[in-house]
Amino acid sequence: MIEEINLRVAEAYHKDVGRGIARIDTRLMQQMELVSGDIIEISGKAKTYAIVWPNVEREQENRIRIDGNLRSNAKVGIDDRVTIQKVQAKHAQRVTLAPSQPVRLVGGAHYILRIIEGRPLNKGQQIRVETVNNPLTFVVASTRPAGPVVVTKDTDIVIKEKSVEEARVPEGISYEDIGGLKREIQLVREMIELPLRHPELFQKLGIEPPKGVLLHGPPGTGKTLIAKAVASETDANFITISGPEIVSKYYGESEQKLREIFEEAEKEAPSIIFIDEIDSIAPKRGEVTGELERRVVAQLLSLMDGLKSRGEVVVIAATNRPNSIDEALRRGGRFDREIEIGIPDRNGRKQILLIHTRGMPIQDVSLSEIADVTHGFVGADLSSLCKEAAMHALRRITPEIDIEEEEIPQEILDKLVVTRDDFKEALKN
Ligand code: ADP
Repeated sequence: MIEEINLRVAEAYHKDVGRGIARIDTRLMQQMELVSGDIIEISGKAKTYAIVWPNVEREQENRIRIDGNLRSNAKVGIDDRVTIQKVQAKHAQRVTLAPSQPVRLVGGAHYILRIIEGRPLNKGQQIRVETVNNPLTFVVASTRPAGPVVVTKDTDIVIKEKSVEEARVPEGISYEDIGGLKREIQLVREMIELPLRHPELFQKLGIEPPKGVLLHGPPGTGKTLIAKAVASETDANFITISGPEIVSKYYGESEQKLREIFEEAEKEAPSIIFIDEIDSIAPKRGEVTGELERRVVAQLLSLMDGLKSRGEVVVIAATNRPNSIDEALRRGGRFDREIEIGIPDRNGRKQILLIHTRGMPIQDVSLSEIADVTHGFVGADLSSLCKEAAMHALRRITPEIDIEEEEIPQEILDKLVVTRDDFKEALKN
């Protein structure tokens, strides 16, 4: 029997996201005498635990497939190496969770227990729980006995009132949260992730990694999402500026504010500075611009030229009008890489729908059918569609709910399913 094995990390299959599962090759499982459902310890830069399942879809793959949540707990990225070994985890008597943001949960601890039952946990790890509205992130504040422990149906789940402010929990957006942009993500990984994680590669080759990348495409197609995903996958500091805001909110101090942002980014590198709607501050010369905008652009240009970093600070800018931005910004050493983020095709729409229905109890819903009839919808539209369908399902049971009551009874929660008709209704709007 082999006790320990070293594997390269790959992303999780969509169906596995948020379930604490690690998929590995059946042959490797046999060599390690692992059976489906066993708990393994995954050691990257940190340790985390997962339930092992066979990777039946790809044979002979020397990879471990884990989702963004597990990667972040093990502090590794895609293509990094981890070692795994089998561990025995005790049953958890109690698990205390601290939400990363103040939350009011429907169903409270019961609801969480149902989602995390069977999962191995250890103190300090983050868990992401998909809910209809948004994924919630919790930090495991403590376990009894000490971890790793497995949550069972008898585990007492305690949710702390206070959120964890000390541990700055990133939103934890990962590549698996982005649908239908495989090629674009690949480009982003090469242009941004690689230099952020391995600046030495570029130094050795004597080439400069890109300082600026321009993402262009219609609103709601996932530009911000991609920027956030690279930041969280690389553990980089993420600073957002919105183009219109830098001019209006910091009126009179815009240039100062920009300088501060760049300083902070360099000090806390690796960092990603995300400038949304860059066209609003940097329209083409000749187009109507005020003196202030001109000064802001000049400042931005000089800050980018002055970036000493070796790929450790990357500026990502987004626009839906790439042809209307100042050409000086698109020259070498500035935003000299561009990636188009287009409107998703049918397949892309289906993937996006899969992502946005992940936390939903759906029944008799064919996502292919919805993808067929949503031509022209972008990611943001599909996300709203799913939320609207869920609200529809909720309205069906609201007459049965007593809002005064502390916790909603289980049998009512069980009735809460989102159906084909809910989607049909949502599509009418
Ligand atoms: P943009 O920056 O291109 O205007 P965002 O990235 O802010 O768009 O997208 C808004 C929301 O729409 C996201 O938070 C997400 O919920 C959803 N969304 C957009 N594109 C995608 C996508 N490709 N996959 C999954 N969800 C998406």
